[in-house]
Amino acid sequence: MKYEVVIGLEVHAQLKTDSKIFCACSTKFGSPPNKNTCPICLGMPGSLPVFNKTALELAMRACLSTNCSISPMNRFARKNYFYPDLPKGYQITQFELPLGLSGHINIQINGTHKKIGLTRIHMEEDAGKLIHGENLGSPGKSYVDFNRTGIPLVEIVSEPDLRSGEEAREYLTQLKAILDYAEVSDCNMEEGSLRCDANVSLRPQGQQEFGTRTETKNLNSFRFVQRAIEYEVDRQTKVLEQGDSIVQETRLYDSNKGVTFSMRSKEEAHDYRYFPEPDLVPIEINSEWIQRTNDALPELPEQKRKRFVKDYKIPEYDAGILTTSREIADFYEKSVLLYTKPKIVSNWIMGELLKELNSDGRKISTCPIKPEGLTDLLKLIDDGTINSKMAKTVFEEMYLNGKPAKEVIKEKGLIQITDSSAIETLVDQILLLNANQVEQYKNGKEKVFGFLVGQVMKESKGQANPELVNKLLKDRIS
Ligand code: ADP
Ligand code: MG
Ligand code: ZN
Repeated sequence: MKYEVVIGLEVHAQLKTDSKIFCACSTKFGSPPNKNTCPICLGMPGSLPVFNKTALELAMRACLSTNCSISPMNRFARKNYFYPDLPKGYQITQFELPLGLSGHINIQINGTHKKIGLTRIHMEEDAGKLIHGENLGSPGKSYVDFNRTGIPLVEIVSEPDLRSGEEAREYLTQLKAILDYAEVSDCNMEEGSLRCDANVSLRPQGQQEFGTRTETKNLNSFRFVQRAIEYEVDRQTKVLEQGDSIVQETRLYDSNKGVTFSMRSKEEAHDYRYFPEPDLVPIEINSEWIQRTNDALPELPEQKRKRFVKDYKIPEYDAGILTTSREIADFYEKSVLLYTKPKIVSNWIMGELLKELNSDGRKISTCPIKPEGLTDLLKLIDDGTINSKMAKTVFEEMYLNGKPAKEVIKEKGLIQITDSSAIETLVDQILLLNANQVEQYKNGKEKVFGFLVGQVMKESKGQANPELVNKLLKDRIS
């Protein structure tokens, strides 16, 4: 039997506020344990929450930038459960009246566009963090850090519109870009400010009704989301093919082993005994406020992507990559101002720059090469000082040492050989050494020419001007 994969994602994004959602404690990451706490976020009896208006405005931005409509009437709800990281014994969240409803974002998958629906976006507070002694050299003990308790979050729930791990990853990439552009969240996955739960089910190809789903919780990297989904798809396929049925449950992903495993059976809404939060008044949001918030939104990734294609005449593929983060897009635009060949700049950023950044996990904001440095290098190719192959070597050195291109070129003695007679000498040498290949080329084996060019380039230690090598080789052979 052929199965269709059905995926819906729940994403928790931490809102970029200075203080927590219901108290004045700092949201600063990395403070000493339990430093950022007060009676409210520690859940002391008798303390009262006060709602943070900035959190609401950021959550509204999240809704508006993902095409959600904003409900004019908002109410918080209590979600009751016991866990040691939840001092109140309930989480303040939204239930029957979420802030945002029925949005969508567009993703591109293998060059085709796909619209992914958003069911809802609601606001809630984060829970604390348990630290188990095994990791601290005191096995058998557990510690709790309440610094995270009460940090404002939005939960963004997608429709079950995704059909593969790859689509899920693309959706997350787009969503992260939107939240980053709209300045809703810093989306720092290492610090846990973006986390994802993946709901996965299978159904026989052609069947309308959805199959039973599992939910894999707390995935903190896009790669893990994709892998956990792919693992679940394999696992569920095997279960179904054996004639067994899928158990609806919550699972966890072990990134070391690359497997998901069962955590607990799935809880239902009624298990939480949701009820309206009595300590907070409902919030009315009028249309002027919504309009004002919408007007204040900056250019979003999709708009920027379209503008890049139109203004810089670069392929949509390039524009997609260059707009995955605001910082990369800004780097690109600054570079194009300094060096007006947009496709060449795009090639260098997508190829060399992002390759280096990905390999050492750096952000472009801390990149040792700035737009000025990159474009100075490109100008040195244009004026013939170096060829593009040498430029790649220079680029690597600039990235390592932060030195300007000219300095690297001088230190390494990397001046391009543009003197025809010097290149002619090399060409003759190579022709002499490769008489067989020359014969083959003359007999119509065109491919051999590339080999000969390569030999001359190699002999020149990569420093010969490639166009000249081509020209002189042709001249000499004929
Ligand atoms: P819960 O709180 O039980 O997790 P939510 O409604 O908050 O429920 O979220 C459910 C998520 O699961 C949504 O993203 C939804 O698209 C997805 N989903 C629902 N049914 C299925 C299914 N059969 N297969 C895959 N995903 C599903
Ligand atoms: Mg869920
Ligand atoms: Zn507090």
